[in-house]
Parts: sequence; structure tokens; C-alpha cells
Amino acid sequence: MLTIAIDGPAASGKGTLAKRIAAHYGLACLDTGLLYRAVGRDVLEAGRSLEDEKSAAAAARALDPETLDDPGLRLPDMGDAASVVAKFTSVRAALLDFQRDFASQEPGAVLDGRDIATIVLPDADVKLFVTADVEVRARRRHQEQVARGEPVTYERILETIRDRDARDMGRKDAPLRQADDAVLLDTTRLGVEEALAAALEIVRSKIDGG
Ligand code: C5P
Repeated sequence: MLTIAIDGPAASGKGTLAKRIAAHYGLACLDTGLLYRAVGRDVLEAGRSLEDEKSAAAAARALDPETLDDPGLRLPDMGDAASVVAKFTSVRAALLDFQRDFASQEPGAVLDGRDIATIVLPDADVKLFVTADVEVRARRRHQEQVARGEPVTYERILETIRDRDARDMGRKDAPLRQADDAVLLDTTRLGVEEALAAALEIVRSKIDGG
């Protein structure tokens, strides 16, 4: 049984690393951001405000995991909607059991998010905190969106990432922070394959070191 917790800010590359590490070790993988994105989607579809905590908590309790593969959840606006509902303690509490159950499956799992090492899986075998300078994160996100043909400026992306970082780090409940026992992986100067090699090396040395 191997559990790996990966946290980090928006567009840090943690999702890609989580999937690749999970594939490498044959583990299940959960992008926990999708849970918060789905809650945001369901609140909006019900015609309620994202700031309405009761509606958001009800949506979190009623969340259908089968709907997490909705491609619409990946849209940039859904990330911002997610970070609004993610500040509510009742929403976070309603999503905890699902995440912990997922992590308890054999032969293990990789979960990525903002509070995996600090709150969801404080006993994870390996904890990684993946980050990169905000300008680099914005540039990568901009390149992805331009490649998909989305008309968006670099400046606008930089601003939304800065806003999201501030919201995620500034909230009272489960703010984004590096767990004391997490290993920092700064991908500012690393390509995807270099970042993966560095991450796998961290995982390997943790496993070998007991
Ligand atoms: O990782 P992703 O960009 O999909 O996350 C969307 C938002 O969901 C984050 O900005 C954050 O507010 C929230 N989130 C969270 N805790 C997690 C995962 C995501 O609060 N474990």
C-alpha cells in the first residue's frame, strides 16, 4: 500500500506529475480539484450563487463521482468557481470521506490538490509540494490555452492565477501551504520530463528510506 499526496498552486504541473507517478507505480489517481469544480458546476446549474454556502454544501453532499469526467469541468472559469466554493468548511467536510476512501484502495493511490498532505492524508507515505514562479505558471497555462484556440491574453491569465493563489492561500479552512514534512519540488526551470524524473527520485528515496 502506497499513498502519495501532491499539493501545489494552480498551474504548477502537479496534475500531470500525479498522473505520471500513478502510472509509473500502477496506482489509482484522483485529481481532487475536480471535486470542487463539480460542486461549483452543480451550484451554478441549480441557478444558485457560488457564495451561497448552504447550496454549495448541499451540492457537495449530493456529488455524483460519475460526473467527474465532464470535460466542461476543465474550463478555466470552473477553476475559479471551484476556489469560491472551496472556502466553505461545510463543503470541504462533505468531500473528505470520498477522498479518504479513494486513498485507501489497494495497491495505493496518488491524490493531488491543495490540502492533501496537510488535512486529507496527513499520514501519506510521500508528500510532495509542487510549485513554480507565478509568471512561469501563467506562461505555461497561456501556451496550453492558445494551443486549444482560446482567445486569452497572458496578462489576463497571470491576473486570474494570482487571484486564485491569494484565495487558496488566504482562506481560513485548509489554506494552501506546504506541509512541514513535504518535499518541495520547484519546476520553474524544469521541463515536464525533468520534473517527472525529480519527482520519481523523491518518491523512490522516501520509499527506500522507509
Ligand atoms: O487543482 P484545480 O485547479 O482543479 O482546483 C480548483 C480549485 O479547487 C482550487 O483553486 C482550490 O480552491 C480548490 N481545491 C481545494 N482543495 C483541493 C483541491 C482543489 O480547495 N484539495
